[in-house]
Amino acid sequence: MANSEARPVPRPGVLSIAPYVPGRSEAPGVAKVYKLSSNETPLGPSPHAIAAYRNAADHLEAYPDGAATRLRAAIGARYGLDANRIICGAGSDELLNLIAHTYIGPGDEGLFSQHGFLVYKIAITAAGGTPVVAPERDYTTDVDALLAAVTERTKVVFVANPNNPTGTYIPHDEMARLRAGLPPHVLLVIDAAYTEYVRANDYSSGLEMAASLPNVLMTRTFSKIHGLAGLRIGWAFGPAEVIDALNRVRGPFNVSAPAIAAGVAAMEDPAHEARAAEHNLTWLAWVTEQVRALGLDVTPSVGNFVLIHFPDTPGGTARDADAFLLKRGLVLRAVASYGLPDALRMTIGSEEANRLVIDALRDFLKR
Ligand SMILES: *Cc1c(COP(=O)(O)O)cnc(C)c1O
Repeated sequence: MANSEARPVPRPGVLSIAPYVPGRSEAPGVAKVYKLSSNETPLGPSPHAIAAYRNAADHLEAYPDGAATRLRAAIGARYGLDANRIICGAGSDELLNLIAHTYIGPGDEGLFSQHGFLVYKIAITAAGGTPVVAPERDYTTDVDALLAAVTERTKVVFVANPNNPTGTYIPHDEMARLRAGLPPHVLLVIDAAYTEYVRANDYSSGLEMAASLPNVLMTRTFSKIHGLAGLRIGWAFGPAEVIDALNRVRGPFNVSAPAIAAGVAAMEDPAHEARAAEHNLTWLAWVTEQVRALGLDVTPSVGNFVLIHFPDTPGGTARDADAFLLKRGLVLRAVASYGLPDALRMTIGSEEANRLVIDALRDFLKR
């Protein structure tokens, strides 16, 4: 007789995963909500991308091109890359998981830094591997700490540059030093989700490294500056062998036809991207300066968001601030799950939203 208590049990490790909790999008009981919790752009997508998406609605009975050929061609043309070395995914989240499932198994380690993007830990664990965390310095990726944590079991190192939720970055030279210090069998994944926002002279996206080195892969997304988070489009560029391996594991139709169409249109509208970057430059500087003028610490950010610290403020804790702002419809991101219980992450929003946050923080601190 079968044991009536028996039931399907997930692989070891699966139930140890803390489910990813996305940024909130609601403020109960408030008429107007300003969502500043998921690093979305206040400018929205290119109007051409919206039109392309609508056009795709007339052909939903047909499977998409599983190779996303037009989208890879558009990305390749825009950045001067060999389209055969590009893979597209349903968001870069899918690609990060694909990388973990392709290169990491039981007994293997995946490495990332202390306040690194939470998806890395989930992807490594889901693949059956062991997540290993290296400490940071000043909320910034520490190359020496990462190198010190490498073992012969390390298969992949994930570095978000700039990192979310801290907004900090490491210069090109530091990334190159990290790569040079890795054993050749270790894949370095440079997650450049916010690269389009960065203006620092010593920064690079990782594109050149991914073009020329056998163990570097760069991931990118349409969710942030391109304003297409709802469609789920990401891409990765790297060595042909790595792209080939990922393509074998990838679902055959992982990017939808409307996503391909809108992605192509977004790639072909650099002016819209430039407007979003310009808006961010102006308001990132303004928000940083205003929050500091209120007496709060802000980690210097090169992304489209800032990490605001609330240690023992007169108004209360980060949690209190979160609740206070929420009552005014200002939805920020609590980042306790990133090991930052005393901080909130704020996406740079519209001028109106940014000004309302500063006013609200001023009132919070006066409580
Ligand atoms: C938002 C983000 C992503 C991208 O996510 P998508 O799945 O492409 O929407 C990847 N990495 C980091 C660090 C991010 O913040």
